[in-house]
Amino acid sequence: METRETCTNGQLFWRGITRACGVCGERGLTRRLVALSETCPRCGFRFERYPGHFLGAVTMSTIVTFGLILISVLVGVWVLWPDVDALRLSIVPLAIAVIVPAALHPTCKTLWVAIDLMMRPLTPGEAVADLVTEEGAPQEG
Ligand SMILES: [Zn+2]
Repeated sequence: METRETCTNGQLFWRGITRACGVCGERGLTRRLVALSETCPRCGFRFERYPGHFLGAVTMSTIVTFGLILISVLVGVWVLWPDVDALRLSIVPLAIAVIVPAALHPTCKTLWVAIDLMMRPLTPGEAVADLVTEEGAPQEG
């Protein structure tokens, strides 16, 4: 098992963006497509490391969503010019406002966990990965 101590920030970033556990790399952490499990089923790492931890994930999701809405409005104005109709102009941005946050929710959370692990490395007791051998059995001592 490759733990945080043996993986680079690039690998950690890749784990975050691909919805994998930042500590052990386990995948399949989402329930019902958009809900992230509270803990990793493999290493036991609790993803919400402290109350309010996911504020960074919400911020990332908001920035991406608003950026896409801005781009879609600008493209819409460019395409519809000179007959810019507010109703037709708002269809794509409204769809983005509904779909993108839901679709990005678990990815933003795992990415935020990865970024947080880069800034604040794992402390003893946060995950049981360091107590497990390659075969998955707890180490002696
Ligand atoms: Zn894990």
